[in-house]
Amino acid sequence: MRFGYDEVCLRHDPGPRHPETPDRLLAIRQALEASHGARFITADPVDHATVTSVHDPSYVDLIEETCANGGGQLDQDTVVSEDSWRAARTSVGLAIDAARAAGHDVDRGATPFALGRPPGHHAVADRGMGFCIFNNVAVAAQNVIDEGLADVVAIVDWDVHHGNGTEAIFYDRSDVPFASIHEAGLYPGTGPVEETGGDAGSGATLNIPLQPGATTAAYIQALDRAIEPWLDAHDPDLILVSAGFDAHEYDPISRMAVTTEGFGQMTDRLLTMADEMCAGLAFVLEGGYGLDTLSDGVTKVHEVCHGYEPAPEPDTIREPDEAVIDEARSIHGLGS
Ligand SMILES: [Zn+2]
Repeated sequence: MRFGYDEVCLRHDPGPRHPETPDRLLAIRQALEASHGARFITADPVDHATVTSVHDPSYVDLIEETCANGGGQLDQDTVVSEDSWRAARTSVGLAIDAARAAGHDVDRGATPFALGRPPGHHAVADRGMGFCIFNNVAVAAQNVIDEGLADVVAIVDWDVHHGNGTEAIFYDRSDVPFASIHEAGLYPGTGPVEETGGDAGSGATLNIPLQPGATTAAYIQALDRAIEPWLDAHDPDLILVSAGFDAHEYDPISRMAVTTEGFGQMTDRLLTMADEMCAGLAFVLEGGYGLDTLSDGVTKVHEVCHGYEPAPEPDTIREPDEAVIDEARSIHGLGS
């Protein structure tokens, strides 16, 4: 794969004992260097105007000033340090690069994956939250639309937390359809199945909240039975995956049960969907807080892009998970 990685992103320092540590990127880099076919590219920090394509200028100014003054706390668990201004804009730059490098004619082995931090999907237009400063994937989607490289950019968010920021930014628009599979009841507590988008974006938001303990099979059924037909209806030119690895069965901050092979299976599904829809595909890193499970997950995505076939798992799922997938299908008119 074509990995976006820049050492500037290591310099965003949320402080000791914070789960969103620079060690996350170092662990991923170390694991990838031991596998074949990983290419690494860097990115420049984007400018103020690029960030304000989705964020309020006053919020971007606040981040710049707070960092210039040595850093500070945005909320209980979201912190910026002096170097976060540069790191956060570089994290955006990596996501934009990945989105621009994706094309439906790109060889699977060259699929882009932006390995930036801080992550982004909780950041709303006027506020950072949940470890996120700027919404990397949202700026990337907006950028390729503004540059005329795509008319419709779909975002599929498989991070264990609901991508509330991404949803809010594009809620009333049809050109950036957003789908999220997440753990019901977990931070930030948003993303019910009934939330489907507003105004011109009606139907362009798809939420699948699964109960704690959901397995790979539930994620695969959510992709196959809801997200694929929904994506097909929106006819994306590009699919961006908000790829968190915190739904892993051994991640320390969630209760989901996706295996490492399961992330491989989800990757396989998305590669196939992108092919069938003649859409580009790119991955943008979100969460994932076990260093081993995170680096194993990213490596599995990489291996599947290079032809590895993930091992099948039992396909039975629990009744509540099946029920919410059925409900999403019904609400979105995807068949009974
Ligand atoms: Zn997360």
